[in-house]
Amino acid sequence: MIRARGISKRFGDTTAVDDLSFGVERGEIFGIVGPDGAGKSTLLRMIAGILPPDSGSIEVDGVDVASDPFAIKENLAYMPQRFGLYEDLTVEENIHFFGRVFGVSRAEIRKREKGLYEFSRLAPFRERLAGKLSGGMKQKLGLACCLVHRPGLILLDEPTNGVDPVSRREFWKILYGLLSEGVTIVVSTAYLDEAERCNRVALMYEGRFVLTGTPGEIKASMGGSLVEIRPSDVWKAEAALAESGEFGTVIREGTALRFFVPDARRADARIRAVLSRKGIRAGTAMVKTPSLENCFMEIISGGGGR
Ligand code: ADP
Repeated sequence: MIRARGISKRFGDTTAVDDLSFGVERGEIFGIVGPDGAGKSTLLRMIAGILPPDSGSIEVDGVDVASDPFAIKENLAYMPQRFGLYEDLTVEENIHFFGRVFGVSRAEIRKREKGLYEFSRLAPFRERLAGKLSGGMKQKLGLACCLVHRPGLILLDEPTNGVDPVSRREFWKILYGLLSEGVTIVVSTAYLDEAERCNRVALMYEGRFVLTGTPGEIKASMGGSLVEIRPSDVWKAEAALAESGEFGTVIREGTALRFFVPDARRADARIRAVLSRKGIRAGTAMVKTPSLENCFMEIISGGGGR
């Protein structure tokens, strides 16, 4: 559905997107995950044909975005972080407005809106002004407005940013529903738990994809093992492990510390040695399945499993 070759975008001295090449398959949900400033929005805007890349090319469904931006727009929906809902129009009026903007006839909008209300559960709020909706409902309305023209590809820029956890889960259910209808979805997020729900994920950092694959492939590609310990003093232990420089990035989760080691069996003795020097008991080191967050933190801090 998408084929990008060597695309770059600079703003002054900042390289927002740095020589990226990748593909997105038809019918998959592809997640772009990374911290603020990684280049996610810039990349999505380029795929949407809103921002021309400085170099490289992007094809959407076989059509070159730069040479025919209008052709791709018929088959594509782009929901930016601040989607331009009209707050002084009702839910229904917004859907009709965006439908008309995309050239859908009034009769056709009437036919389609029932389905849009159903999946977004916005039916009871048809008459409500968009400005009076909660954050989560606004995002669902934004998505509904993007879908009136039945695009084959939707690009969502951090759609659940600032949305409460229950609404986030609901929003993801909607995305899965769209997938089952054959829509291709590219979604950016700063939430690593959301990345776990994608078919494939690109971990983006400083304009590059530092890792791409299914969540399972990414975890398997990490060299070494992730170990977890529950030391007698978690704060002191965290500092001591970091100071030793022998281990991967240490992540604290409650009373546990997790970090990558090259060889879990040999690491046990090293962990005990480092901690006992500071009078800390290490407890038993357990080997854990890494989360994407563990992998990402390890990669961007220069590890990679060690
Ligand atoms: P993300 O969506 O991952 O937060 P962005 O694509 O918004 O990242 O930004 C990537 C980098 O490009 C940041 O350093 C940002 O400040 C810069 N940037 C983005 N858009 C512009 C712009 N229009 N003008 C100048 N700098 C920009």
